[in-house]
Amino acid sequence: MRDELEHLLLHEGREGPPPEDAVVSPIFQSAMYRTRGVDVEEGALRYLRYGNTPDQREIGRLLAKLEGAEDGLATSSGMAAISTALLGVLSEGDHLLAQEALYGGTRDLLTDALPSFGIEVELVDGGDPAAWEAAVRSETRALYLETISNPLLRIPALGAAPGFCREHGLASIVDNTFATPWNCRAAEAGFDLVLHSATKYLNGHSDLVAGAIAGRADLVEAAAGRLRQLGGSLDPHACFLLRRGMKTLALRVERQNATSLRLARSLEDHAGVDRVHHPGLESHPDHDRAARELAGFGGMLSFEPAGGVEVARRLLDAVEVPVVAPSLGGVESLLTRPAATSHASMPREEREAAGITDGLVRMSVGIEPADRLEADLTEALARAAR
Ligand SMILES: *Cc1c(COP(=O)(O)O)cnc(C)c1O
Repeated sequence: MRDELEHLLLHEGREGPPPEDAVVSPIFQSAMYRTRGVDVEEGALRYLRYGNTPDQREIGRLLAKLEGAEDGLATSSGMAAISTALLGVLSEGDHLLAQEALYGGTRDLLTDALPSFGIEVELVDGGDPAAWEAAVRSETRALYLETISNPLLRIPALGAAPGFCREHGLASIVDNTFATPWNCRAAEAGFDLVLHSATKYLNGHSDLVAGAIAGRADLVEAAAGRLRQLGGSLDPHACFLLRRGMKTLALRVERQNATSLRLARSLEDHAGVDRVHHPGLESHPDHDRAARELAGFGGMLSFEPAGGVEVARRLLDAVEVPVVAPSLGGVESLLTRPAATSHASMPREEREAAGITDGLVRMSVGIEPADRLEADLTEALARAAR
């Protein structure tokens, strides 16, 4: 299967060979397409907002194959994928179960926007199927999880979700951004809808914002209907860059998996570090589940330098290789302090209760030489502790 995925990354998605004997698909910079005088139903018209033009379809088909899904759809951002897909599944009066530890933008959508449309959202422990069982009711339509949570890299009960959802007639939905299809083929594992911020690992070069949906054909079709209404389709130039970025997904993520685990182990042994979170470490609370459910542990880690927030701040000043910036998934390593960035809007007490301390540092590991990253972190920790 690894070979097959690598092959798909290079060659899958096109409907036929590119025109003019080109090796690479061109950018079809055309808003609309000819109907040749025949009557075409509205949904079948090709139009950029409909997400059904050649560049957009190439992304959708490729992601579907990678995830083991029936169909896929490109969107203008990860949040467009999430909002469009959810509004294809949910309507007024419905109830959604979602894990507590959610990406910030998703949390805002679920706890602010959806309730304003009369959709009730209940946050549950993603690792505890008994809690799902206790919360499910007749209006419940879906369960929403993230394969790897931010920034503590917790792994929900992924293996239990598809069966639980089938039993209760719910759609199983997962945001697979952190794991990528290289580390988790979520549709193949039974999820009905798989969502991505393609801004992160799928594109991998920190130079565009995009999203994607893959899943059961009827649910992707419902999402495509909502996409036409909501307008979050992906521009052809961004499709081209995303398709190019995805060719190297396997190489990048394989390297990031290896380097992040090595750095996590080295930080765990470092006297100047109090705690390290990485699902590949035996000390991680979800290590066994991660080893069972994932083909790789991913390129993210987080840690608390001894000495708290002051040392963490000095560490971000002292590093030379990683770039200090939010977001993740690019070829360059990124460091950020979630309490000051991704989780700044969360009340401090709630944040601390969730284990996200002010001194926590999150690292998106890039593809730089591991020796260089390790030496830089060690040196920066020494300087920050002085
Ligand atoms: C970044 C991110 C999103 C949102 O994606 P955008 O492309 O910024 O809209 C959603 N989910 C997760 C897990 C993310 O990391």
